[in-house]
Amino acid sequence: MKDSHGRTIDYLRISLTDRCNLRCIYCMPEDGVCSMSHEEILTLEEIEAIVRVAAELGFKHIRLTGGEPLVRKGVVDCVREIVNTPGIERVAMTTNGTLLPRMAKDLKEAGLSRVNISLDTLDPDQFRFITRRGELADTLVGIDAALEAGLNPVKVNAVVVRSLNQDLLAFAKLSLDRPLHVRFIEYMPVGESSGVDGCGWGPDDVIDSDDVVRIVSEQAEAEGLGPLIPQNEQAAEGWGPARYFAFEGAQGTVGVISPMSRHFCSECNRLRLTADGKLRPCLFSDLEYDVRTPVRAGDMEGVKAAIFEALGHKPEDHFDIVGTDRKMSQIGG
Ligand code: SAM
Ligand code: SF4
Repeated sequence: MKDSHGRTIDYLRISLTDRCNLRCIYCMPEDGVCSMSHEEILTLEEIEAIVRVAAELGFKHIRLTGGEPLVRKGVVDCVREIVNTPGIERVAMTTNGTLLPRMAKDLKEAGLSRVNISLDTLDPDQFRFITRRGELADTLVGIDAALEAGLNPVKVNAVVVRSLNQDLLAFAKLSLDRPLHVRFIEYMPVGESSGVDGCGWGPDDVIDSDDVVRIVSEQAEAEGLGPLIPQNEQAAEGWGPARYFAFEGAQGTVGVISPMSRHFCSECNRLRLTADGKLRPCLFSDLEYDVRTPVRAGDMEGVKAAIFEALGHKPEDHFDIVGTDRKMSQIGG
């Protein structure tokens, strides 16, 4: 599948739910989003039907996200169904990790290959502050569970925010002794985080990924760990826009993702499906195309048409687009 700018689009990110067991200050309001009603949310069967049509059209990679995908009832069976869809090569998940201790093994057995675990701090108090209700230990045990279950690769995604003053080197060191791929993501001042109701962070909180690499390298060299050495994408089996590095002899890698400082729009390979059945051509744009009406009517030609329409409206880049009315928890990040 090519979009109107000639890019191959073969990756669908699916938000399974807008609900979450955490309330990260930059993602969700304290009392949760005004959750969608049961009828508004796609059923798992509807999601699976959309995936079948997408796979027929050439989509190969699926990522399940949310909200927190692991709070969606039936998620393990949904993974199995999508894994078994002809044409789908890889199914991945982005999760806060807290439910992995009880679910990682089943997810692996269902065919989930890779998992990205979001973790923005290694300080227990700061973790409570960011997530409003979470415990750092739960996510750390979730990372252990993912590795033990044999999920591969296991990536830890940390959003870097200047006001948080995170210990970046401590994160990078997670890659030393275990096959963990730590990725630093530039904070995006959109959704819940932007505007007067947000968490108070703004454009000044974005730290350029090049600075992150420099800071981590300098601190590591001061500790005798040596600099970060550039790696190719295969180092962490990437299929996204990250750039990878590693410490000499480390089992894992350290990557950076730069949605703000280096727009990777020219390499964009994805569409997004919201939990209420809207196809979004671009994370930063509120353009959406309804796929729930046709899938609910059993009109698979209509589903196809919605996918084509969304592809046809993928912007060339997001230089002129600065925000979104939807919260990250509703779009899937
Ligand atoms: N609950 C899951 C989790 O936390 O991984 C999946 C959904 S969450 C919306 C997906 C990702 O979006 C998380 O890694 C989160 O840190 C990221 N995210 C949310 N708001 C963001 C923002 N303003 N800038 C950068 N990343 C953001
Ligand atoms: Fe939940 Fe993930 Fe948003 Fe945090 S970032 S509130 S874990 S959806």
